[in-house]
Amino acid sequence: MGYVDEVIERVIAKNPGEPEFHQAVKEVLESLRPVVEANEALYRREALLERITEPDRQIKFRVPWVDDKGQVQVNTGYRVQFNNAIGPYKGGLRLHPSVNVGIIKFLGFEQIFKNSLTSLPIGGGKGGSDFDPKGKSDREVMAFCQSFMNELYKYIGADEDVPAGDIGTGAREIGYMFGQYKKIRGVYEGVLTGKGLSYGGSLARTEATGYGLLYLTEEMLKCNGKDIAGKTIAVSGAGNVAIYAIQKAQQLGGKPVTCSDSTGWIYDPEGIDVALLKEVKEVKRARLTEYAAARPSAQYHEGKGVWSVKCDIALPCATQNELGLDDAKALVANGCFAVAEGANMPTTMEATKYLQENKVLFAPGKAANAGGVATSALEMSQNSERLSWSFAEVDAKLKGIMVNIFHNLDDAAKKYGHAGDYVVGANIAGFEKVANAMLAQGVC
Ligand code: NDP
Repeated sequence: MGYVDEVIERVIAKNPGEPEFHQAVKEVLESLRPVVEANEALYRREALLERITEPDRQIKFRVPWVDDKGQVQVNTGYRVQFNNAIGPYKGGLRLHPSVNVGIIKFLGFEQIFKNSLTSLPIGGGKGGSDFDPKGKSDREVMAFCQSFMNELYKYIGADEDVPAGDIGTGAREIGYMFGQYKKIRGVYEGVLTGKGLSYGGSLARTEATGYGLLYLTEEMLKCNGKDIAGKTIAVSGAGNVAIYAIQKAQQLGGKPVTCSDSTGWIYDPEGIDVALLKEVKEVKRARLTEYAAARPSAQYHEGKGVWSVKCDIALPCATQNELGLDDAKALVANGCFAVAEGANMPTTMEATKYLQENKVLFAPGKAANAGGVATSALEMSQNSERLSWSFAEVDAKLKGIMVNIFHNLDDAAKKYGHAGDYVVGANIAGFEKVANAMLAQGVC
């Protein structure tokens, strides 16, 4: 059995009941075969794949808080510090009832390669809790966030581990967590990113993941003789990534016609009204039925269905494994020629394979959604300098980073004989830098 297969087997045996983590490790390691085969003796002796698939540490803790009725609630908090070979751990905090250690490990593992791809000095980590901010009052959210930070503060710091937002963790949650960290530690430092502008946040961080997704997609299309202008785009999700992906797609002349949340989806053939979507989701924190009620051209459907709409480009921006094989078949049948992942691992392995076999340009999340973490790293730089850059400056840097990421993965795919396979390209380009740093730093 080859080294890659041995390590995949070992990871599955050592981490039972963590299917998302198994899936991420399989997807990454299988696409690293060309590099691993070229360096097998060295990597085996150094146990490089065993080390890179084992987190530096996993922290799990109790998060007790009191709800508005005076009842004590208990959630579980996690922080997985996966790999700091190239910089302090960096990765978001997910607040969603589905959160468990396997999901945090899959996200932390992917984050290592994503962060490396940005070419900025940041290692990989991820965290979160099974707490659901939906339907909670601001006071309840604050009580949870303070209790979460009462434990997390021991393990994080501006040069150590710098968490950020993710599903369920937006500016409100980051603000409460930052306030509690400051109170406990008595230091004012850039320990979290995604902060508000009045206390160390970066302009363009809110827009960064969605905008970055479109910058990378634009470059991928350009290098394949195509264009966003005039194209119909299917988007899933209605959160931070989806909203700003829709906004940038429109600025580039595309026409996004769908969005979704966990209960239903919108088809709006006139094109999504971003101002209305922001009002419903960012201000009212309401369901998409309110969007449909306010917009005569929109149709609301319960459940899933975004990928059944005829489109040229698909941008999955909600959550993991939301685009399966049947969805991929529907997209291909409807003439879709490009899929770029705004969410983390939204496309299943079978669906990815089907899309690639059918010549659909496919940009994997660890490259396509890296604009968020890249801009978080720019926020860290501004905090260290005690300066704030303008929106245009950050946006220009973001665009440069995304264009550069695309060319790095395109080059890596070509170098190893897989031209056009951006999954292989992203994994190899992200891996090589981390692997070299780990080898240089000895057994640690
Ligand atoms: P938000 O919480 O802002 O939005 C998530 C959206 O996806 C919401 O519309 C939500 O619907 C929907 N959703 C969440 N879980 C499910 C589910 N199980 N089934 C169907 N729909 C679901 O999160 P973000 O936009 O920040 O994140 C979206 C994705 O992008 C995630 O995979 C995240 O890891 C990834 N990402 C985010 C970055 C960022 O900067 N924010 C950076 C890089 C990646 P509802 O409101 O009903 O819950």
